[in-house]
Amino acid sequence: MSSVPVIVITGPSGAGKGTLIAELLRRLPQLEHSVSATTRERRPGEENGREYWFLTSEEFERRFQAGEFLEQVTYVSQRRYGTLRSELERIARNGRVCVLELETEGALNVKRTVPGAVTVFISAPVEELDRLLTQRATETQTEIGERLELAHRQLEQAGEFDHVVENDDLERAADELERVVRRELALAATIDS
Ligand code: 5GP
Repeated sequence: MSSVPVIVITGPSGAGKGTLIAELLRRLPQLEHSVSATTRERRPGEENGREYWFLTSEEFERRFQAGEFLEQVTYVSQRRYGTLRSELERIARNGRVCVLELETEGALNVKRTVPGAVTVFISAPVEELDRLLTQRATETQTEIGERLELAHRQLEQAGEFDHVVENDDLERAADELERVVRRELALAATIDS
């Protein structure tokens, strides 16, 4: 077993974490994405069990009380998001390394509580974040405003993570993320042997 139990990809909403993770998984098949649980509305094109496990607030709370989450947060507009321990167990059983996509508070929690976790902060130029978040048009104006304000605050937390990858150009950022993760996996393999 690798001593890197999880790779955490974090950063502000709108920085392109999802796109970069999809590309990373395509390049490194030994990685697998953990499907989080959330109480937010499903966006068009999203599927239960693929992007998220979409839960009611009652179901989320029941599972929280039952200790089923490794970490969980309440994000904008009182939406809850959490990493299910069962996802980590499933990925470990598959013999793969788990990739978590988390906002910054959850990422810091995992960094503190999971030994060996590697954290990568995806940053983006502020103008680009504003443009993407405003354009996405899947959230209400109030939610967009909340996400923008939070994104600006989250950008200031970059220094708290192991690596920072600037998503100024998708191809370049994907190459850099791949390099960072490959190096961490190689390092873990030398510690194991
Ligand atoms: P979105 O609603 O845009 O899919 O996600 C909002 C934010 O929640 C994103 O920054 C995403 O990375 C984060 N997120 C998704 N799943 C989890 C989770 O399980 N835990 C935490 N802490 N954040 C999550």
